[in-house]
Amino acid sequence: MTTTDVPEEGLVACEVCLKEIPRSVARSLEGPDYVYYFCGQQCYEKWQAGAGMREVGLEVSGMDLDFAAAQALAESAAKRYAEDAMLLAWFDRERGKESPNVPECQHKPGWLAYAESHGGDLKIDINHGAYVFIFTTTKQG
Ligand SMILES: [Zn+2]
Repeated sequence: MTTTDVPEEGLVACEVCLKEIPRSVARSLEGPDYVYYFCGQQCYEKWQAGAGMREVGLEVSGMDLDFAAAQALAESAAKRYAEDAMLLAWFDRERGKESPNVPECQHKPGWLAYAESHGGDLKIDINHGAYVFIFTTTKQG
């Protein structure tokens, strides 16, 4: 076997616009299984926000924030927008956990795609992506 004409390892595709960019300049985000790359801040934010979602960012400092505390915080924030806000999906970067655990599709994490296709319209992002919770605030059916 020869290794001629193997494409440069240095190119990665942007998660949002699929543009190929050198790995060295890409913005990256470590997911549970692999690293997501973005060509720039704009695509990164687009991916983070999801389509048509209201995004709320919370920052907590001065205390250890475990998943249960983060979830309680996200839920109380969500209920300010809608009494019956329902949690659809979440991502826990620290532990590399996500729910629901569904296969990747459409070039985005499964949990995010799931939330988007199930009416997720409120995203609570705690400590810059350490914990992400997506709720639906509109009654289904
Ligand atoms: Zn892009």
